[in-house]
Amino acid sequence: MAIDLKAHIRGIPDFPKPGILFYDISTLLRNGPAWQETVSRLADLVAPTAPTALAGIESRGFLLAAPVAAALGLGFIMIRKPRKLPGATVGLSYALEYGTDRIEMQADAVKPGDRVVLLDDLLATGGTMAAAIRLLREAGAEVPLSAALIELTFLQGRARLDAPFASLLAYD
Ligand code: AMP
Repeated sequence: MAIDLKAHIRGIPDFPKPGILFYDISTLLRNGPAWQETVSRLADLVAPTAPTALAGIESRGFLLAAPVAAALGLGFIMIRKPRKLPGATVGLSYALEYGTDRIEMQADAVKPGDRVVLLDDLLATGGTMAAAIRLLREAGAEVPLSAALIELTFLQGRARLDAPFASLLAYD
């Protein structure tokens, strides 16, 4: 029988600030069978889109995208916070509720003809995922799918995304 993955995710109130219910995947990562099933179900979600590489958004997106890429025999691209990557980078700044944020990727990460599927742990407002989709497209990639383990559906983040989106676990 399929494992109930939601039973392995904790909701921690008021983290990192009052009013936010933080979905903590540490307990999912800590459970071997549940973690194995998470990676396998994400691989099944991603495989039909025929990607040539996967990209993950720092830092919890790395935890998901790197093992899914390896399971599918594909390479993995890091999308990171500013000034973390060596060599030539391309980046994109995007608006937050208060202020701005920035993501970067190595300039040679995307190869001609790449179809890159983007993975993150959680989709909230969609701002982070929307920026990462744009960054990949500007570097010349097709983005056949963006996906998250967890989707906070009440925030309607997927409406902000300019690429198909799928999630394994929805919370409303
Ligand atoms: P957003 O750009 O609003 O979609 O926020 C998504 C990013 O913030 C993801 O990389 C998540 O890891 C993190 N995040 C936002 N809200 C939460 C939450 N309630 N619990 C855990 N992580 C969150």
